[in-house]
Amino acid sequence: MPDIYMPEIQVLIRQKILKQNITENTTMMKTMALTGVREMEMIERPIPKLIKDTDVLIKMKIVGVCGSDIHYYLSGKIGNQVVKYPFTVGHEGAGQVLEVGTAVTGVKPGDRIAIEPAMPCFECAQCIAGRHHTCLKLKFLGCPGQADGCLSEYIVMPETSCFPMVEDMSYDDGAISEPLAIGVYAVRLAQMDMKDKKTGILGFGPIGMSVLLSARAKGASRVYVSDKLDYRCDIAIKAGAIWSGNPDKVNIVEQVKEMEPQLLDVIFECCGKQEAIDQSIEMLKPGGKLLIVGIPEFDRWTFPVDRLRHKEICIQNVRRQNHALEEALELIEKGKVNIGMMPTHRFRFGQTKEAFDLVADYRDGVMKAMIDFD
Ligand SMILES: [Zn+2]
Ligand SMILES: [Zn+2]
Repeated sequence: MPDIYMPEIQVLIRQKILKQNITENTTMMKTMALTGVREMEMIERPIPKLIKDTDVLIKMKIVGVCGSDIHYYLSGKIGNQVVKYPFTVGHEGAGQVLEVGTAVTGVKPGDRIAIEPAMPCFECAQCIAGRHHTCLKLKFLGCPGQADGCLSEYIVMPETSCFPMVEDMSYDDGAISEPLAIGVYAVRLAQMDMKDKKTGILGFGPIGMSVLLSARAKGASRVYVSDKLDYRCDIAIKAGAIWSGNPDKVNIVEQVKEMEPQLLDVIFECCGKQEAIDQSIEMLKPGGKLLIVGIPEFDRWTFPVDRLRHKEICIQNVRRQNHALEEALELIEKGKVNIGMMPTHRFRFGQTKEAFDLVADYRDGVMKAMIDFD
């Protein structure tokens, strides 16, 4: 967009958008709230107000349904994060800025933005160390006990969570930049030149795909993928893996060993399954690195101590992402990743429950379902 930003124009744009989107005297909005295990309802809430002068009011345009949203939908919790009903989830979002606090300088009404769901305090020891994603007072969009999610018509976020998008990027691109950022960050945490690294990705949901796209963008050429859904194995090949296999049908450890007798340099566990950890330890070369990205449904992993020791395998856990959203947006903008295969289904806001059921049941070849507010 040409830089024609001036205060008068800002006021005009703002009035126009406010008129378009919030008709006079409207103070209520719709939000899609979890109301029980596998239950959700559209409820009315007041439109949130700007509280701090760094706050931004956003009209939601697109929200992607994440595996973690499904965890909350199906079991009401992830680990010790327990839902208190009614509660709105959703954290992969893009929208349009409607109103900004007096101290906001980075975005203006009318801007189309991708949303960074993490709201760190910027003051604690973790934040000062640059680890904003493990902030001791972190509030995360759509995380129980922290902040309501973005499956609402309007949300308020701090300016630091608003990333303007270039004109030719779509709201889909903006929403998908969030899961993609997790892939970008996981690859960053591998701390190796990915060029020609023999790479494994176990589990090929949207996060496995984000890791694949990020690793490929960094030069990884020999990527092996496994998933228990055949259609996801097919998508992995289309997205750039050189081999994919279903561990319920083939012995992936034997097959990968045959193709790579020197074994793999790095494996990204992206499904939260114990057998994937076991397979990883067999498929990694001595000195290889295992990154655990998946969220298991149980509380403890088990590891074969001898195998780990003898191979001196390095294990790195991955907690969401830290400062990777900008790079994810840049990869999309510059065409270095093709995220076109990620969104497979689209639902209107009112059909959010259908979207969650589809994703929860892995029906109809779903990778990611998008919720469209327009
Ligand atoms: Zn997510
Ligand atoms: Zn902090």
